[in-house]
Parts: sequence; C-alpha cells; structure tokens
Amino acid sequence: MNTKPAGDTRSPLPKSRLVADVQYAPGVGPARAELLRRLGIQRCVDLLFHFPRDYEMPAPVAGSSDFIPNTRYTVVGHVVEMDERVTQSGKHMLGVLLDLESGGLLRLLWFNQPFRKQELRPGVRLKATGVVRSTVLNWEMIQPHTVVLSPDETVEEGRPVPIYPLTEGLKASHMRAIMRSALPALIPQAPEVLPPWLRHRLDVDEIGTALQNIHFPQTIDDAARARRRFKLQELLTLQLAIAIQRRRRESLGGAPVCPPEGKIHSRILRRLGVELTHDQASAVADIGREMAREIPMNRLLQGDVGSGKTVVAMYALLLCVAHGFQAALMAPTEVLASQHFRTLTERLRASRVRTALLTGSLTAGRRKELLAQIAAGEVDLVIGTQALLSEDVRFAHLGLVIVDEQHKFGVRQRARLRCEGVRPHYLVLTATPIPRTITISHFGDLDVSVLREKPPGRSPVHTYCIEQSELDRWWPFVRARVAEGRQALVIAPRVQASDDAERASAQEWYQRLRTDVLPGLRIGLLHGQLDAGEKETVLTAFADGRLDVLVATTVVEVGIDVPNATVMTILDADRLGLAQLHQLRGRVSRGTFPGYVCAVASPGCVPSDHQRLQAFERSHDGFELAELDLQLRGPGDVLGTAQSGLPPLRIASLVDDTDLIELAREVADEVLQRDPELTAADLQLLRRRTLQRYGDFLGLSDVG
Ligand code: ADP
Ligand code: MG
Repeated sequence: MNTKPAGDTRSPLPKSRLVADVQYAPGVGPARAELLRRLGIQRCVDLLFHFPRDYEMPAPVAGSSDFIPNTRYTVVGHVVEMDERVTQSGKHMLGVLLDLESGGLLRLLWFNQPFRKQELRPGVRLKATGVVRSTVLNWEMIQPHTVVLSPDETVEEGRPVPIYPLTEGLKASHMRAIMRSALPALIPQAPEVLPPWLRHRLDVDEIGTALQNIHFPQTIDDAARARRRFKLQELLTLQLAIAIQRRRRESLGGAPVCPPEGKIHSRILRRLGVELTHDQASAVADIGREMAREIPMNRLLQGDVGSGKTVVAMYALLLCVAHGFQAALMAPTEVLASQHFRTLTERLRASRVRTALLTGSLTAGRRKELLAQIAAGEVDLVIGTQALLSEDVRFAHLGLVIVDEQHKFGVRQRARLRCEGVRPHYLVLTATPIPRTITISHFGDLDVSVLREKPPGRSPVHTYCIEQSELDRWWPFVRARVAEGRQALVIAPRVQASDDAERASAQEWYQRLRTDVLPGLRIGLLHGQLDAGEKETVLTAFADGRLDVLVATTVVEVGIDVPNATVMTILDADRLGLAQLHQLRGRVSRGTFPGYVCAVASPGCVPSDHQRLQAFERSHDGFELAELDLQLRGPGDVLGTAQSGLPPLRIASLVDDTDLIELAREVADEVLQRDPELTAADLQLLRRRTLQRYGDFLGLSDVG
C-alpha cells in the first residue's frame, strides 16, 4: 500500500507512510492527532506500536441455565411479547420477553427509549449483550446492546475487544475506531526486525501477523501469541545490548593480573581464619579465576546478611594486595565503613597490609595527608564511603574496587574511581537477594555468585507476627532476655511524629519504653537525623553492652553488627517490604544465641490477612522472599533506588515473563556467538533497534 487512494490530498506524500505525521493516518486528522501526541504517538509507526494493555473478553453466548448473576452474556432468541408502561418515578419503561435459543426465558428492559418499540415486535430474532440480574420472578438484562438477526444468520462468538491506554478527551471507542481505520494500511509496511531463522528459534509469527493479532485478535490466544512476540523482541534487544556491553568491556582488557597462585591462596585462607562454606569456596574460585585475567572482573556477590560475604570480599582484597595493587572498599554509610575498617584492621594486624579509612568526616588536614599517601601508593587498602568517589581521590595503582550494598549506590558509579592506566576489577556485594529475572535483565552485565548456605554454628531465628494489641504480652519476653544478658533492638520506621497519630515515631517509642513499658532498662535512640558523631556514640554504647535496648529507625538495616543483640521488635512491620524485613531480621541472627523477631502490625492491620507478614513468618530464605516481594509489589519496589541505567521495559514484565527473559538471554548469546558484531545483512534492523534504544546505556551518543 504505497500509493494513496485517489482524492486524498491531505498527505504530503511521504516516502513511507510509517514515518509520516500521525495526523495523515486514515481516520485521524489534526484534532485527534493532537490528542494522540499526548500519548507519545507522533508518527504513524507509533500508532502501530501503541499496543492494547489488555482485552475485554467477549460475552459468551448462553442460555438461562448457564447464568451467573451480575455477569455479562450474549443471548440469542425470539421476542415473545413486549410491554411498555410509565414507572412511579415517571420514566418510560419498555420490556421484552425473549425465548432463548439455548433454553430459558429472559426479560430485557429499557428506560426512556420508546423508539426501540419499532424493532422489538414479537417474532423478531434478536441478539442481546448485557449483564444479567436475577429477580424474584425471572432473569433480567437492563439496557442491553441488541442486534436484530435474520432467521438463518449464524451467531459468531464475539472477538476480544482491545483496551488501549487513553488520554483525557480520547474515548476508548474513538481509539478503537482510529486503529480500525488507520492500521490496515500501515501493518503491511511494518519492517520485519527478526529474520526467519530467529522467528523460528523464538517460535513467533512474522511482524504483520503479530501486529494484526495484537490489535485485532480473533481469539484471546491469538492476542497472547502476538504479545509474546513483541515481549520477546523487546527482551532480545535488551539482552543483546547487555551482551554487547559485556563483550566490549572484555575486549578492552587492561586489568591487573592477580592469579591466586598456590602459596598466595593458602596464605590468604589462613588469614581469613575460617573454613569456607561450599558457597564461599565457589565464590572465591570464581573471583580467583577472573582476577587472574586481564579482563576486568565484573561480579555481583549476593547473600543474606550473615552469609559470609565480607569474608569472600576480604579474599579478593588480599589477593589484589598480594600482587602489589591497591584495593578500595566502598560502603554506603560511615557506620558501615568504620565497621569494615575495624574488622579488616583487626584481621590484618600482624600483616604488612596498610589500611586507611576515608570518609566525609575527616579533618581537612588528615584528608590531605591521606590522599597524598593513596596517590603515592603508600596505602594498600582504602575503606570508605562515597567520599572515595570525589574528584581529588587518585590511586597510584588501583587493582580492585569492592562496593558493599550496591542497592544504595547504583552500578553506574563504579566508573568514577580514578586511577590512570588500569581498569580495576570490580565486585559488588549485596545483602538484598535479587530475583534472577531482575539480575539478568537489570544487572545483566554482572556475573553472579550466590551465597545461599549459612556459615556453621548459627543459631535459629524465631519469627512471630502479632497485632499491636498483643504487644503487652511481648515486652515481658524482651525484658526476660535482657535479664539473661542479651540486648534488644526496637525498630520504629519513622523518625518524627507524623500526622498519623496512631503511628508512634521512634522518638515516641523511645519515651514510652523508658517511662512505661521497660522502665529501669538502659535505652538508647538511633535515627538518621543524628550526625555521624552522635550515631557513632550510640552505636558504640550499644556494641559495648552499655545499652540494653536500642530504639532505631530502619537505619540499622545497613549498619549494626552486635552478636549479643538477639531480640528484635519491628513496629508497623506491614509498612515495610519483605526484603527490608528480612534484612532487619538478619541483625539478630549473627551470634551463638537464638534470635527472636517480633513483627508488629500497625493498628488496623491483621497479620493473618497480610500476605507479606505471613510470608515473613513462614520463610527464612531471602531469595524466596525476594521473589515473593516481586510478585506482590512489582519490580519498582523491589529494585528500590537501584540504578541499572537501563530504560524501563514497555511490554514485557519482570514479574510475569520469567521464561521469556531466560529465552531471550539464551538466544541473544546464540546470535552473538554466530555474529559478534551483528554484521549480517538480516540483522541490521535488529542491530539498529538495539543501538537506538540502549545507546545511552552502551555509552554511545551517536547511533547513526
Ligand atoms: P555478611 O557480610 O554476608 O553479612 P560476614 O562475612 O560478615 O557476613 O559473616 C558473618 C559472620 O559469620 C562473621 O562473624 C564471620 O566471621 C562469620 N563467618 C563467615 N564465614 C564463615 C565460615 N565459613 N565459617 C564460620 N564463620 C564464618
Ligand atoms: Mg557484611
């Protein structure tokens, strides 16, 4: 359809209709084009790819024995009788009794539509669609949509009706009308991105069929099959971009070669002072293998709090230092950075490794001195916060960057650690288990090691979910544990009292615990608005056992490691995500004493009806909980502030399309194996689409 119908003078005859302004599409025009633009539809081609977000299912053809009250049906029957009257409220009412071909009788009713009388004479054959109601006397359908049928006309089951994303001023019926008039001419022009062999591999239809079926499906299965094609196309493009990115990084090389030779390896293991778990050993093997290459390692280490990530990280740090390179460890908070610093200096006391702590709270003088040492290569191991990223921090020979708790950063910041000439290895630690679909779609350029098993000697954690009213029975338990010498954490998600009077803030709870609930105990308060020094003071007091109870906002999530703290009360627990709850629980599962967590629902929330709290009580597997969180809350909440640097998916879903994500990844690898640069003629369009969409992510400004 390259030629225009005669007499159509509106269009400036574009080379292809697809790139023409949408106002020239048949049935659109300037006024509707204005509305369409608000939906991001500029050109004709955008109309093609403005997909229905769902479909309304056709009402099934039914007889009265099939009826479920308040359900939509289509019925076919003959008019038996008609009556009309005026109701008490003065409305005109028209009634028709229909003898259904599938059996039974149904009464149709219209108000204030006397004109319908003409076509509703007894004997007429009628198709009616509407919602049926059950009354004392019979089945009724009010204001149905009707079509008069000839005696021999067969009744087709209705087709699914597409539901399009709309904007104010553009009705659903308008949108459908636009699509019906514009698309038939456009669909045949849509270019095919996937060559036949790829369509065959993915088991999808060619573009024309898929477009036809996504907009005008005969059946819901047709629509599903068409959607599958466009989801796969989107996911394949994403996976290609990720794979291209990875190949590019690997081809650059330039990383310091740090092989875990026998002697170095065993010396480091001795220094770590623990027998590695199976998972730790395999993560260490991954790391050793990759740090031995010139290709920079790019690895994500996932594991619950307490699964032993720090031990693995220390292996990598020591391997790097053993080869004469500097290493940096970056943590999201000062508290956590100092904690790492203490652990590491403790472990390395008898070694020659020179460590330093770089945070924002150094004095100007000390900072200057330290920066000079780092630049001169006189410090081996630098532990710090975001302060490590500032412009004036320069390393002499940086070999490895480790980022702890990546979720607080976003992967893109890695590039900003400065060192001339080398491309350091990179390791990210995260205690937030990330569902696999998100890992391979959002962090797909990272290789993954997972620590699932816990180091030996861990005591169990008991989890309870209760209503606020049951708290009176919980506090005595807390007091009893404190009497045994243990310590307690009380988590109150908000700092300041909010308008929501029922929800007590951490400050209020702090007061209440001191005066009413746990008088006589030594209670401290920690929240995000304290400055670094104040936080440190409170935390140290708690760590040294000078406080029995610490009331805190969720800041402790990333910052407390006190093995003697074994009892945790989480207030307003239903307001927190599963991943966060699970992280908090990790704080009382570190030591040799059993841990106890009490998740308290906010007023009005019944824990037994609350899916997240139920799951939290039942499961202690961080990965299982993360998958569930993804199902319950969607990817936005699970990802939190994570910055993958990738644009969001348009049609595929991280929650529902797990299988397609895996398939796309597999196929992307196959494609690049055959043709690493995507040079084949039949892949040019796919290559262009990939670069157009992911050029930013790939660091390409000009995608031609
Ligand atoms: P994470 O960083 O994942 O929260 P850590 O590495 O801090 O976990 O380990 C938690 C605790 O378990 C630490 O006290 C650590 O010394 C100990 N630990 C780690 N790995 C082992 C192991 N393989 N055997 C015994 N204890 C271990
Ligand atoms: Mg840790």
